[in-house]
Amino acid sequence: MMELEPVIGLEVHAQLLTRSKIFCGCSTRFGAPPNSNTCPVCLGLPGALPVLNREAVAMAVKAGLALGCHITRKSIFARKNYFYPDLPKGYQISQYDLPLAKDGKMEILTGRRLKTGQVTEYAKRSFGITRVHLEEDAGKSIHRSGEDTYVDLNRTGVPLIEIVSEPDFRSSQEAYDYLNNLRRTLLYLGICDGNMEEGSLRCDANVSVRPAGSSALGTKTEIKNLNSFRFLQKALEYEIERQGKVLREGGKVEQQTRLWDEESHKTLVMRSKEEAHDYRYFADPDLLPLVISQEWIEELKGEIPELPEKRRQRFVEQFSLAHEEALLLTQTRQFADYFETAVKTAVKTADQPRAIFNWMLGELTRHLKKDNRDITQCPVKPEHLADLICLIDQGGISGKMAKQVFDEMYETGEGPQAIISQEGLQQISDRDELESIVNRVLDSNPQQVEAYRAGKEGLLGFFMGQVMKETRGQANPQMVSQMLQGQLQSRTGKSS
Ligand code: ADP
Ligand code: ZN
Ligand code: MG
Repeated sequence: MMELEPVIGLEVHAQLLTRSKIFCGCSTRFGAPPNSNTCPVCLGLPGALPVLNREAVAMAVKAGLALGCHITRKSIFARKNYFYPDLPKGYQISQYDLPLAKDGKMEILTGRRLKTGQVTEYAKRSFGITRVHLEEDAGKSIHRSGEDTYVDLNRTGVPLIEIVSEPDFRSSQEAYDYLNNLRRTLLYLGICDGNMEEGSLRCDANVSVRPAGSSALGTKTEIKNLNSFRFLQKALEYEIERQGKVLREGGKVEQQTRLWDEESHKTLVMRSKEEAHDYRYFADPDLLPLVISQEWIEELKGEIPELPEKRRQRFVEQFSLAHEEALLLTQTRQFADYFETAVKTAVKTADQPRAIFNWMLGELTRHLKKDNRDITQCPVKPEHLADLICLIDQGGISGKMAKQVFDEMYETGEGPQAIISQEGLQQISDRDELESIVNRVLDSNPQQVEAYRAGKEGLLGFFMGQVMKETRGQANPQMVSQMLQGQLQSRTGKSS
């Protein structure tokens, strides 16, 4: 059978987090009453002139720089003509011949997803970025089923960047990993909220299939509006499979625009090549060429923080974490900052970074999810989490108690020491006190002691449990375990 290879390229639209729209002063606030954030410019009234928003340009340049692009010193705005009810001007202002940024690349580790869902076999790959350009968003049509269609023009003129990749992905996982790092990069730059469900980040995927080893590109289909990572992956898998089948059966893939249908788990035809748009692009006569000085580029470069992939790599090296662990920690800049602050505070032992990782991805994330909060709204300070971990390390409290203390820290925002002394939760490590409790437990359970002697060594856990019950979980578990074994040993010896 002919071996086939998928070829994928992504076009991503990201909504920029500016306060006002790209060509007028209207607010970009989400959720305002329909058509309230509008003016003659974004309503497309005749004679109204667009004025370019400097903040939007700054954000787009940062994106270009972060993606290793060459910034075009003089870029051009163009009109992309098409009719749509929520596009009042009849054209969208975009960039075409001379985009703001081009010829970039993204280097990341990407993996291969196993049937179990686990990702493995990481390899470093480089993906080309064709271009990053600025454009304006269209409005929104709201269809009421069985009723009319309403148009809300609040979103008209909201600034977007479009990021077009080269057809460099050879699996759905590579496309997924690229989009994931792209999303993180935009988040780190603080220029997009990355919310795919709300449409702040939208992805169209172009897919073709060709004989493995061939260098010519096959005919592609474009899958529109994939509004989650899961859909991207599923739609790509489906489309690769579908096109492969067509080719293996001797057919030809038709150039089409398709949609992912979550109901049937299929991609469906939206339009074919014959219906393709001719946008009749031409330079917008209302807007001057966008000229960006080298000084401004340098200034914006200086505002770019350490980017997620670099930070992930540093975490792996500096804290001996696995790739996946570092990936989870660097999901947002704030999450990674929390981790680093905690690590700095904790007295250094080799495995404290891992302990902090475990707490952050375990208890901390569990609490935050339950309350629908993000890390910036976490009541537990990173310094306090570090203190808690040090207390566990030094035997000040048991792991079990630590969870209780953590719950309290999360409720009150107080540090672990304060809670431990208020609640009397200190670990009991006093030898005499523990000795007498251990003896009491053994004395009052003669049958179990008998059974232990007869070889049921699993009963050690039962005795441990009894001691913990007596001490409300505060007994030092290592000490109790040693004492129990010693006592049971000597009692056995006594009677035989
Ligand atoms: P179009 O003219 O249809 O808009 P472009 O050449 O502008 O196509 O490319 C759009 C996107 O599709 C880019 O991300 C590009 O990498 C990708 N692409 C182009 N050709 C192919 C192909 N044969 N297979 C897969 N992806 C492709
Ligand atoms: Zn406006
Ligand atoms: Mg194109």
